[in-house]
Amino acid sequence: MSKTSYATTCSYCGVGCGITISKEKDGKIRLQGTPDHPVNQGQLCSKGRNLNYVLENQSERLFFPQMRISKGHELRRVSWDTAIERTTATFAALIRRFGPDSVGFYVSGQCLTEEYYYINKLVKGFIGTNNLDTNSRLCMSSAVTAYTLALGEDLVPPTYEDLDQADTLLVAGANPAWCHPILWRRVEALKERHPETKIIVIDPRRTQTASLADLHISIIPGTDALLFQVLGKLLIDLNYSDSTFLQHHVEGFETFKNTLSGINLTQASAECGSDLETLIQVAHWIGKSKNFMSLWSMGLNQSPQGVHKNLQLLNLHLLTGQIGKEGSGPFSLTGQPNAMGGREVGGLSTLLAAHRKLSDPSAREEVARFWGVEKINGAPGLTATQMIESLNSGKLKALWIICTNPMVSLPDSGLTERALQKARFLVVQDISVKNEAISYADVVLPAAGWGEKEGTMTNSERRISHLSAFAKPPGEALPDLEILQKFALKMGFRSLECTHPEEVFLEHAALTEGTRIDISGLNYSILKKNRGIRWPYPKSNPVEAKGLFLNKKFAHPDGKARMITFVPQKEHEERSPDFPLILTTGRIRDQWHTMTRTGLVQKLQQHIPLPFLEIHPEDASSRGIKEGDVVWVKGRRGEIKSRAKLSLDIRQGVVFLPMHWGKILGNSFAKTNRLTGNSTDPNSFQPDFKFSAVEVQPFSKP
Ligand code: SF4
Repeated sequence: MSKTSYATTCSYCGVGCGITISKEKDGKIRLQGTPDHPVNQGQLCSKGRNLNYVLENQSERLFFPQMRISKGHELRRVSWDTAIERTTATFAALIRRFGPDSVGFYVSGQCLTEEYYYINKLVKGFIGTNNLDTNSRLCMSSAVTAYTLALGEDLVPPTYEDLDQADTLLVAGANPAWCHPILWRRVEALKERHPETKIIVIDPRRTQTASLADLHISIIPGTDALLFQVLGKLLIDLNYSDSTFLQHHVEGFETFKNTLSGINLTQASAECGSDLETLIQVAHWIGKSKNFMSLWSMGLNQSPQGVHKNLQLLNLHLLTGQIGKEGSGPFSLTGQPNAMGGREVGGLSTLLAAHRKLSDPSAREEVARFWGVEKINGAPGLTATQMIESLNSGKLKALWIICTNPMVSLPDSGLTERALQKARFLVVQDISVKNEAISYADVVLPAAGWGEKEGTMTNSERRISHLSAFAKPPGEALPDLEILQKFALKMGFRSLECTHPEEVFLEHAALTEGTRIDISGLNYSILKKNRGIRWPYPKSNPVEAKGLFLNKKFAHPDGKARMITFVPQKEHEERSPDFPLILTTGRIRDQWHTMTRTGLVQKLQQHIPLPFLEIHPEDASSRGIKEGDVVWVKGRRGEIKSRAKLSLDIRQGVVFLPMHWGKILGNSFAKTNRLTGNSTDPNSFQPDFKFSAVEVQPFSKP
C-alpha cells in the first residue's frame, strides 16, 4: 500500500520533538520520531509515541458549532454563520456600551504561533484592548520577567547542545525525567558518557529526576530564593566569583554581596531544609565547574516569589561568569509546546510583538504603524487570574476561551467556576467536549487539533518548527486561525483577511526585523528543510543561532547584566493548626494538562490510572491513614477526595497532588485546583500552585 509522509512536531511539551507521519492510502496514520531531527534523533516519549491514537479516537471531539438561545437553555447545534453572527453582535454591543476593556480573550501555549500572532493583532490592534492573556501565564511568566530584569530582555541563553557539554547541572523545581523526558535522556546520556558530571536536584520530592542526581536536596517549599542566596554567599566566601566577568559585564555585584553578608549560613541552610555541609559541597561543584548549567520550571515559577527565585538563580550564573559561553547558562524549560512562540508574538497582556514592551510608547507607535491602526492602548490588560476576578466582579462582561480548560487548570477552581457562571457572554473554542467551561458557554466553536491544521511552534531552546496538516478536522471543526478570521471579518476588520497561515507567519517575521529575535530570513520552506531553526535568523545573516550572549553583551542599554537582590519574605499562604501541611501540585509521566487528549489513550492510563495524594508515612500514620485509603484533602477554599499513596520520597509536612484530573471522576474527587489559591507574583502575575495550606483526614461517610 502506498504511503504519504509528513514532517511535524509533537504538540505536548516544550521539548519540541520531531515526528514523521506516514499516512496509508486507507487513511491509517502511523508515526515515529524523526531519526535525524536535531531535538530528539528519532526518540519519542510515551505521550508523543501515542499521538496518533488521539487523532483516531474522536469520541470526545466537538463536531459542530453550538449555541444557547439564552442562559439556562440547552446548547443547540447551529451553523457557523449563526455562531459567528451571535458572537460578533454580542462582542460589538458590549464594546459599544462598556468599551473595549469589557471583553477578554484567554488563549493557550498550545496555540500555533500564527494563531497567537493573529489574535494579538486582532485584540490589541483592532478591538483596542490588551485583555489578552494565555495559560502560559501559569507556567513561565516569572522566568520571562526575571530574564528581562537581569539580562535586559526575555532571552533564554542556552541551547540543548549546551547540555551535552555541562559538567555541573543544577535542576531546581522541575522533574524533566517525567515532564521533559526526551531532553532528560540527553542528560542521562551525558552522565553515562561522563560519570563525573555532577547533578544536583532541588525538590521537596525525590522524583525520577532525583534518582540520577549525585545530590538531592529535599527543600522546604517556598525557600528556593534563600537557598540560592546561601549558595551565592558560599561562592563568594570560597573565592569562586569571577571578578573579571563581574567587572566588565555585570552591575549590582556590590549590593548583592552586601545584602548577603548578614546571612547566617547554618541557620539559613536549616530554614531551607538542608545542612550547611551539603550546600558547601554544591558551592564547590559549581565553583570548580568548567561548564555550569541550571534547569528549572514550575517549582520556581509558580510562586508569589517566582521572579525572585529566578533572579537569585540567575545571580549564581552571573557571579561565576557561567553564562554567555558554550556549555553553560541558566535554562528555564517551557512546559507547553508553544509557550516560547507566545512570548515571541507578545501573547501576554503586558507585551507586544517581538518582545516589545506595551509600556514603551515608541514600541506601541511602531507596531500600530505596522498593523495599520491608529494607536495601541498603553494600559496593561488583565492577566489570567485578573480576568477571572474581573468576571466575578462583573467588570469584565465577556470572555473568549481558546484551547484551554480553565475550570481544571486555573487556581481556585471554585472561584473560576463562579466567575464563568457570572460571565454575561462566554465563548469556548476547543477540540474537546471535556472542556468544563462548556457548561457555562453561550457559544461553543469546534476547533481543529494537532495534525488537522498547519503552522509553527517554538520550543524551549528557541527552535521554530513547522507542523503539517495531514488529517481532516472532524465534522465542521475548523483551524483556529479560520475561526478567528471569520470573527475579525464579521467585525469589519477587512485588513485582517488572509488566505494561508504562512502569510501570517511572514508578517510576524517581518515585524521582528531589527529586533533581537529577528526571524526575517525565515519562511515555511526553510523551516521544513531544516527540521526547525533556532532564532534569531535575520535575512541579513541567515545562519542558525547558537546560544545567546556569546559576545557577553547583554540586552540592557549598557550591555551589562544586572544582579538583583532582595530579602526573601514569606509571601505564601500561612499554615495553621487547621491546615498544617503544605500542598504542592504537578504532573505525572503519561498525562498532559487536563487529560483532554492523553485521557483518550488507553495505554497512557496504565502508568498511573487514578489520582492520588502522595504523603509521608509519618504524616499518614499520625492521621490514621494507610496506603490506598480514601482521604479528604481540605484547604481554605474547598476539599477534595483522593487516595493516599504513602511514600518516603516526599518531605514530611508536604503532600503532593497531580493536577490533571477534573470532573470526570465525580465532583468531589480529584480536582486539585479546588485547593490552590489565586495569589500571584506581584511582578509576573504567575499564580502559586506550589504552596497551599491543607489538612488531610481519613474519609468517613457522613
Ligand atoms: Fe512530545 Fe515532549 Fe515527549 Fe518529546 S518529550 S515526545 S515533545 S511530550
